[in-house]
Amino acid sequence: MSDEANPFESLQSQIDEAANYLDVGGDEIERLKHPERVLETNLTIEGDDGDLERFTAFRSQFNGDRGPYKGGIRYHPQVSRDEVKALSGWMTYKTAIVDIPLGGGKGGIALDPDDYSEAELERLTRSFAKELRPLIGEDRDVPAPDVNTGQREMNWIKDTYETLENTTEPGVITGKALDSGGSEGRVEATGRSTVIAAREAFDYLDKDLEGATVAVQGYGNAGWIAAKLIDEMGATVVAASDSSGGIYNPDGFDPVAAKEHKNETGSVVGYEESDEEITNDEVLTLDVDLLIPAALENAIDADLAEDVAADVISEAANGPLTPAADEVLEETDVFVIPDILANAGGVTVSYFEWVQNRQRFYWSEERVNEELETIIVDAFDALVETYEEHDLENPRTAAYVVAIQRVADAFEEAGSWP
Ligand code: GLU
Repeated sequence: MSDEANPFESLQSQIDEAANYLDVGGDEIERLKHPERVLETNLTIEGDDGDLERFTAFRSQFNGDRGPYKGGIRYHPQVSRDEVKALSGWMTYKTAIVDIPLGGGKGGIALDPDDYSEAELERLTRSFAKELRPLIGEDRDVPAPDVNTGQREMNWIKDTYETLENTTEPGVITGKALDSGGSEGRVEATGRSTVIAAREAFDYLDKDLEGATVAVQGYGNAGWIAAKLIDEMGATVVAASDSSGGIYNPDGFDPVAAKEHKNETGSVVGYEESDEEITNDEVLTLDVDLLIPAALENAIDADLAEDVAADVISEAANGPLTPAADEVLEETDVFVIPDILANAGGVTVSYFEWVQNRQRFYWSEERVNEELETIIVDAFDALVETYEEHDLENPRTAAYVVAIQRVADAFEEAGSWP
């Protein structure tokens, strides 16, 4: 893993690359490379031992031209101002490529949640929600889960907001538990779009998904669900990894049993159906038909990209390839389904959750999955059309061309304001 690439610079270079194919002025492109605003706040809470501890937290509102800012909140030691800015930009182009009426935002707190008790995390989350309160709202900015956050944190934020505002407004946040106004299908949605996009890519490339070999780097919510669903589609999951290492069996293994092992022991490592223990980098360079990076940014840098042997990559993580890695994979003809499309299922079902919250009318899981399928397939088709029209080398550039044009059109249609 490389930590050399600054994710914000990666985002900006992806935008610059797409700008070559767009009829959008340089001044407007400049605007689309920066967030509209970033909140940086210091949260001080009392630990269980009675001592005070300070945490740095951010919320970046990147672009609201197409609707309320939308994007998750992550808890991770690596959270920084630039990382949050980059992730909020990726959200802007993610909501645009799938054409849902939302903008882009992202937040985070720099900490390792494993070091804190549930009570401490609740105090910290409620303290962040208090700081976020003037910025968020179902028509302003709608946070959601991201790395190391989930239904529990979303429920706390909803409760804090609603209590302080003396209202009920479940659409202020998405990714909630079902009984708190969550949506069917939301937990699985990121992994689901990753495999729908992979299925479409295999079809486009005339490759058979039945029996195709798959490696999954990262076995959190997105990674393990993608593994489970691709297995159900007839592919064979041969490798998986998490922060403790990787497992490999060339004949394949049951991804659900691997997840159960991880639930029991904390890692996929040691899972009995695995033939061999391998490193995270080895998982990323296996000779497989499909690679699913599902962990953090910069998992594959230019050096590692030289060794990538997969035919197709479907990015469940945000920003797993550095721009230099992208260039290498272009040369070696690896078809990369970009994060802003491949993992857009999460925010798409968040959009459905928000719609259901506003209507106070809830959909079946079947309806959620059908509507998700349509949105991801349409977005993939739009990507391919632009990819072919401009004879592009990289599907990522095609996705950005489509997405940036949509944001720029909304900005131009709004006209100027002094
Ligand atoms: N954190 C997810 C993402 O990166 C979901 C965001 C959302 O649902 O708003 O796309």
